Amino acid sequence: MLILGLESSCDETAAALVTDDRRVLAHKLAGQEAAHAPYGGVVPEIAARAHVEALEPLIAAALAEAGVSLADVDAIAATAGPGLIGGVMVGLVTGKALAHAAGKPLLAVNHLEGHALSPRLADPALAFPYLLLLVSGGHCQLLLVEGVGRYRRLATTIDDAAGEAFDKTAKALGLGYPGGPAVERAAAAGNPAAVPLPRPLKGSAEPHFSFAGLKSAVVRAVGHHAMEDIAASFQAAVVECLIDRTRRALAAAGPVSALVVAGGVAANGAVRTALEALAHERDLRFVAPPGWLCTDNAAMIAWAGAERFAAGMTDPLDVPARARWPLDPDAEAVRGAGV
Ligand code: ATP
Ligand code: MG
Ligand code: FE
Repeated sequence: MLILGLESSCDETAAALVTDDRRVLAHKLAGQEAAHAPYGGVVPEIAARAHVEALEPLIAAALAEAGVSLADVDAIAATAGPGLIGGVMVGLVTGKALAHAAGKPLLAVNHLEGHALSPRLADPALAFPYLLLLVSGGHCQLLLVEGVGRYRRLATTIDDAAGEAFDKTAKALGLGYPGGPAVERAAAAGNPAAVPLPRPLKGSAEPHFSFAGLKSAVVRAVGHHAMEDIAASFQAAVVECLIDRTRRALAAAGPVSALVVAGGVAANGAVRTALEALAHERDLRFVAPPGWLCTDNAAMIAWAGAERFAAGMTDPLDVPARARWPLDPDAEAVRGAGV
């Protein structure tokens, strides 16, 4: 079984070919940093145009690298949301056109489900249910992953996502975008105890995350401390918050097979090391995908497609693109009521 995956929900265009026995035959990626750099952030209209230009050559390159043709593909998986709607539509419409032309089934994949199932592409032994810390540019959630399509949200951020905090810290420190890797590099040369920074919601009885106050404290520290010390102190504060909230969720979640992390921030070495220690303390397995599979890519979309295909969850060609698409709609209803 061979799945073509397409990703275009933010500022990475990607195409990948993945088999249902976890072989990544090709994964191709095109970033858009140069196109957005003059504006200091992602411009949705520019992103959508860039996806239009990049996607078809990436698909051709992925097929060539894998040495297969569209006829050899068994199903086509495309991100259908959540994300910037123009970009999502480019990838989803392309997926629909290919599925229609080649007579293949379509899988409309939730980008967050791509992140959530990516650890199972990396680790064949990872079984349901697992506790997932999903930390990315737009999300910071603790999810109980009970099965394909079965996600229970235990916690979310009440303000910024963890990756957003890394990106805003990088901007405040003059490190550019995307900020996560740059902050991690700077932190390696700094003292994590040098700058007193808050740990929002640490020890709180409620399950959620908060990073806005930490980011503001970083902005206030700029000019009073060495840039590397601020980066190291910020990263240490984020790690402490993530660990505290994850420890609380582990106590509340009931039995799980493993502690798992996914999403762009899961590429961070300090985050991974601290989570691994927590898992060890709880006598749990720890699973984290390799770095390239943590940040946005199409292999995770193809894999989520493979998992959904195996579960019989194909989609009609009129499936909509969605800017908002919670993995756990029940929890999202609660969010509307205040969290
Ligand atoms: P979402 O998945 O929530 O829709 P996204 O797709 O934009 O958002 P990802 O690509 O999953 O986000 O992750 C990107 C985020 O990960 C950025 O905020 C980036 O700064 C952060 N990130 C990437 N590498 C690292 C790292 N080494 N350390 C910390 N943060 C990192
Ligand atoms: Mg990106
Ligand atoms: Fe993402």
